[in-house]
Amino acid sequence: MNDNEFRIWSEKAAAWGADYRKTLRDRPVRAQTRPGDIGAQIAEAAPEDGESMDAIFSDFEQMIVPGMTHWQHPRFFAYFPANAAPVSVVAEYLVTAMAAQCMLWQTSPAATELEARVIDWMRQALGLPGGFSGVIQDSASSATLAAVLVMRERALDWQGNRDGLASHPPVRVYASGQVHTSIDRAIWVSGVGERNLVRIPVKGPLNGMDPIALEAAIIADREAGLLPAGIIACTGGTSTGACDPIGDVAAIARKHGLYLHVDAAWAGSAMICPEYRTLWEGVEHADSIVFNPHKWLGAQFDCSIQFLRKPEDQVRTLAIQPEYLKTHGHDGIINYSEWTVPLGRRFRALKLWFLLRHHGLTGLRTMIRNHVAWSESLARKLEMEPGFEIVTQPMLSLFSFRHTGGADPDQHNIALVNAINDDGRIYLTQTRVNGKIAIRFQAGQFEMTEADAEMAFAVITEIARRM
Ligand SMILES: *Cc1c(COP(=O)(O)O)cnc(C)c1O
Repeated sequence: MNDNEFRIWSEKAAAWGADYRKTLRDRPVRAQTRPGDIGAQIAEAAPEDGESMDAIFSDFEQMIVPGMTHWQHPRFFAYFPANAAPVSVVAEYLVTAMAAQCMLWQTSPAATELEARVIDWMRQALGLPGGFSGVIQDSASSATLAAVLVMRERALDWQGNRDGLASHPPVRVYASGQVHTSIDRAIWVSGVGERNLVRIPVKGPLNGMDPIALEAAIIADREAGLLPAGIIACTGGTSTGACDPIGDVAAIARKHGLYLHVDAAWAGSAMICPEYRTLWEGVEHADSIVFNPHKWLGAQFDCSIQFLRKPEDQVRTLAIQPEYLKTHGHDGIINYSEWTVPLGRRFRALKLWFLLRHHGLTGLRTMIRNHVAWSESLARKLEMEPGFEIVTQPMLSLFSFRHTGGADPDQHNIALVNAINDDGRIYLTQTRVNGKIAIRFQAGQFEMTEADAEMAFAVITEIARRM
């Protein structure tokens, strides 16, 4: 591709993106294809000779786009949002064009220095005290893995990387059953092992872990010769938004010398609004906190911030310095690849900088407060509707509900979700609450309006009546 073609096709791609965003409301939210439909249209081997961009672009539109689920659709109410605010998309065009590897300070000083600055902007915006620094990771899963590795190394007096785990007593980590599956995977791949992830029972309306049970488990493990290493608490669990009592958990972590990692991947964005901060009261005592600006806040995926109280512990766990990666003569600089498992790093700070500057914290707070209010009012309306029950009350903008009917209530609600998603006007997913299927609703789309919430009510009730 020559310079001129690069310009033409870049402009076409940007124009396509703008048209795409403008027409999202007219598209079905979830892809309406059957397994194999798309794959069957694609050549079985790469071409020997290059093809024209016209042909490639046209195939993209004909073959690929119809098989996409539209995560930027204003009526995407499934899972959690993965917002890409238009301004962050613009920043990503620039990042993609430069395609720098930002692993060391010297491999892109601006990327490192901007990253440190926007992390501190976010620290202030979330109401976290000074003393936390941080790093932008690709995903919360990676941040949690890094935190588990640090817990492990601290507990093993920094010998685990060298010895492996076989010559040490089992390392123990504590979490409730409400945490995201990325915690299980971090436990598996860190070598800690699922058997050493101790599940603490939950209680209360927020399904938070019981601090008394937590402390009892730590004491019992220590008496049994095991090595309690760390606690993973959540603010906004994935299924229904469970919140652990962070202050109580942090006090126990401190008392017993355990490392505390808080997973607020989704709910962390809401903490730019001071009134929601009671949900993670005590978080300033955590050692590590992860939150994903790429979820609710609007920074295009991927952009996950891990705040750290003592980054030296993470660097001690993860830094490898072969000669070719040493940067001589720049004392005091940050090489962020020493804070993460992957070496190569995208320039992720730019989109966050664009986003925060363009919308301002006030604009982003308004968006989040609207989502919470619209979700609450939808829950109240569904509650009044015959045949519907609210299963878990709104936690920020997430609640779950159920429709009564059919011989098998689980089957009935799964059939209802499927019928709603086949209809295409909105997209919902299901979860299990106390063993029974419930339908999840979360409001969080960057360009959602109140009318979209009203449409959700109309679609849910209309399709339920028809069943
Ligand atoms: C989404 C989510 C994750 C996983 O986030 P990734 O960035 O996709 O790894 C972890 N924990 C919670 C609570 C989440 O909502």
